[in-house]
Amino acid sequence: MTQLLRAIPSVDERYFDQRAYPDGIAYLDGQYLPMSEAKISVLDWGFLHSDATYDTVHVWNDRFFRLDLHLDRFFRGVERLRMKLPYDRERIVSILTDCVALSGHTSAYVEMICTRGSSPTFSRDPRQAENRFIAFAVPFGSVANKEQLEKGLHVAISETVRIPPKSVDPEIKNYHWLDLVKGLFDAYDVGADTALILDTNGHIAEGPGFNVFLVKDRSLRTPAFGVLPGITRQTVFDLCAEIGLSATAADISRTEIKGADEVFITSTAGGIMPVTRIDHAAIANGRVGPVTRRLMDLYWQKHDDPAWSTAVISP
Ligand code: PLP
Repeated sequence: MTQLLRAIPSVDERYFDQRAYPDGIAYLDGQYLPMSEAKISVLDWGFLHSDATYDTVHVWNDRFFRLDLHLDRFFRGVERLRMKLPYDRERIVSILTDCVALSGHTSAYVEMICTRGSSPTFSRDPRQAENRFIAFAVPFGSVANKEQLEKGLHVAISETVRIPPKSVDPEIKNYHWLDLVKGLFDAYDVGADTALILDTNGHIAEGPGFNVFLVKDRSLRTPAFGVLPGITRQTVFDLCAEIGLSATAADISRTEIKGADEVFITSTAGGIMPVTRIDHAAIANGRVGPVTRRLMDLYWQKHDDPAWSTAVISP
């Protein structure tokens, strides 16, 4: 945990210049390139239509965390979008490994992407598109900065409704983020750090890049409907099973989340991150709670356990 706090750059230290590229390596159209040279055609439907799926795994101290789960979700998404990857799973693992090794980062944020690509004849028929695989490794980043990890985030509940699952299947990790970005602006407008948006039934869904959990009477709950089944969310279920805490996926109302004993969010970008205020009101006593702290510690401990992580380069 302290190691994490030291490693995460504060918001001010991050890049805000759009012309600057993070230090990293990408794999694109058969070549390894510095991030600044990894460019795709503006005609790629991944860009024009958000017709793409992706996954993000992280590396911590030279080890991938739960790589198999990320690959399973990525391959499932590609298949459900009727795309075809030009490489098999083993080759993709070696590309991701190369990106990390060439970047020189010991802790990294590693993304794999499959876009629809475009049709060589400019046909509008997606069946004729040549799908494109892209991967990259850049420095590890987090939804929450150091101070927010210590004191907890302030989250605002936006009226924005997440795109319905019947329109875009949330189990396929996607870039349909206009709802999440709108939620984020709503949150900034009221002075909060980030947002939670609603599902089509008015329950709490998820936020920009994270799932959410509440703890009430030592039982955990996370929304079941209309959300990405996050790998960090799955990791919380697995940790709870190990330590004998009950965790279920079921609807959460606004009143329930505000009346919880503890609230935290989960993402590959930062792990388990405490929330101590919602819509300007403190959650319980306004401090990071014991269940959240215990899960945060366990989460980072698992990063060098071979059952949960794999070395980037096998010894
Ligand atoms: N929900 C959304 C919409 C996301 O984009 C993400 C991650 O990017 C998550 C949840 C958290 O998923 P994971 O824990 O796999 O990073």
